[in-house]
Amino acid sequence: MSVVTETISANLRRVGECIARAASRANRDPAEVTLVAVTKTQPADAIRAAYEAGVRHFGENRVQEWETKRPLLEDLQATWHLIGHLQSNKVPRAVRLFTRVDSVDSVALATRIDRYAAGDNATVPILIEVRMDPAPTKEGVSPETIHEIADAILALPRLQLRGLMCVPPLFAEAEQVRPYFRGLRQLRDTLVRHYGIALPELSMGMSHDFEIAIEEGATHVRIGTAIFGRRPPA
Ligand SMILES: *Cc1c(COP(=O)(O)O)cnc(C)c1O
Repeated sequence: MSVVTETISANLRRVGECIARAASRANRDPAEVTLVAVTKTQPADAIRAAYEAGVRHFGENRVQEWETKRPLLEDLQATWHLIGHLQSNKVPRAVRLFTRVDSVDSVALATRIDRYAAGDNATVPILIEVRMDPAPTKEGVSPETIHEIADAILALPRLQLRGLMCVPPLFAEAEQVRPYFRGLRQLRDTLVRHYGIALPELSMGMSHDFEIAIEEGATHVRIGTAIFGRRPPA
């Protein structure tokens, strides 16, 4: 095994142990928590190493970057999540390149994904990205207007709404993020009651705070740095 492969599999073991401990603190089955390995800036070899260590869900935040790596990884049977902001002109490519879109944040975007998915006779699993803090510059829909986008998505035949996703602000103390995660879960519960549908997925928690997210109900944790090491500055 190369040094890179060894490091990645050791990191994955450690992350897996933390996931299991956080789940048990919350009386949850660790199997309810899916690890999404976030591979932005990582080379195809690192993605393959994580796959060989057992990872089956991967997240990328840019369409172009994934477009360059994907041909090197066509043989992997994995679920490819788009987790970053999607521009409307990139929707046709995104729908081809990703299994699902976890960052749907406007009615216009949802409508466009539905339109392009129709060509393949496919359905696209999606999450609504919610902006849990009031900072207006951040991406995501506000909790106050979520019914508008949820109504639209539920009327689009090719979209399969699976749940909610959030990227809360970064705090010095990870514990400060807990109310945001709890808020996302409560918002999900509100939607489930309002629409009478199942919304099983909550994608929340990154390298520095995923244990808190699991305690608050995360079903998907998106982890990059803790698996692959620090990314080069953007
Ligand atoms: C980069 C990224 C992550 C992973 O962040 P780490 O701190 O490296 O674990 C998770 N979610 C989104 C949306 C990201 O862009």
